[in-house]
Amino acid sequence: MSPAKKISHIGEFGLINVLAKLLRTQKGIAKSIGDDAAVMASQGDKVLLFTTDMMSEGVHFKKSMGARLIGRKALACNVSDIAAMGGMPLAAVVSIGMPPSTPVNFVKEIYRGMESIARQFNLSIVGGDTIKSQRLIINVALLGEAGKGKVVYRCGAKQGDLIFVTGALGRSLQSGKHLSFTPRIAEAQFLINHFKPSAMIDISDGLAGDLGHILKQSSVGAVIYEKLIPKRAGATIQNALYDGEDFELLFTLPVAEAKKLLADKKSKFRFHFIGQVLNKKEKLTLLDRNNRRVALLSKGFVHF
Ligand code: ADP
Ligand code: MG
Repeated sequence: MSPAKKISHIGEFGLINVLAKLLRTQKGIAKSIGDDAAVMASQGDKVLLFTTDMMSEGVHFKKSMGARLIGRKALACNVSDIAAMGGMPLAAVVSIGMPPSTPVNFVKEIYRGMESIARQFNLSIVGGDTIKSQRLIINVALLGEAGKGKVVYRCGAKQGDLIFVTGALGRSLQSGKHLSFTPRIAEAQFLINHFKPSAMIDISDGLAGDLGHILKQSSVGAVIYEKLIPKRAGATIQNALYDGEDFELLFTLPVAEAKKLLADKKSKFRFHFIGQVLNKKEKLTLLDRNNRRVALLSKGFVHF
């Protein structure tokens, strides 16, 4: 690689690929870089899940959004990644950087926000690190666990599978959903206990981008139907496809399982059928309201 090459030239995912190539995983790691969480061998019939997400002032939040909601979001987006693997959260460590002028009460409020999510999902905050930085920055690393045969990866979608999402998409930032969303742990547990999702991801970068991750890793294509995609109030189809931070689950089910899910009227959850997995050469296609096929760029929010 040319020594002058910058991160902005290769992009966020280009950089992650470069880093993944220079790392070697040791024995006991079932899944390293590339999914919503890493998967590691554990004792008995469980595996450990390990994920991290960092948030910084100006990119993910403004101080004016309120400390409690900022803290809540920092932990909730990690819980969402554990949900997307079919797991349950166990324990988190939290690192925080902030200017010396930060009021103690502001930091306490951040932790109260995190604690509300910790109690809701029965996990413990067990440590962290504290540093000085120019802007507020919060990193959470979260450990979870899942049943050995129950982990759902991004790479398992098969041609013919039907595609679902757990809720309305688009305008998460404008509506405040990005601060108040509920990680879809309950929905994911319901799915893995009663059905067999073939692939799953949480939508953090936008439907098109995150479906793109499933398609790429599963070596398949897909069609999604504009009229079936659930949109948040005021959201356009562009918002639903490309806005980030919805934290809904996007998953695929073999047809027989999908039919059972669609016929299940007893469930308290609502799952929205939005499309079907196709051959790889179909790429990612939207069938619009006029039944026109539109090729979609599977690009979502990227940091660089
Ligand atoms: P998500 O949106 O689900 O949190 P990301 O898009 O942030 O996932 O990351 C994609 C994959 O790349 C994940 O497996 C993540 O652990 C990995 N990853 C991201 N940044 C780095 C990094 N700096 N070093 C190593 N792995 C990384
Ligand atoms: Mg994720």
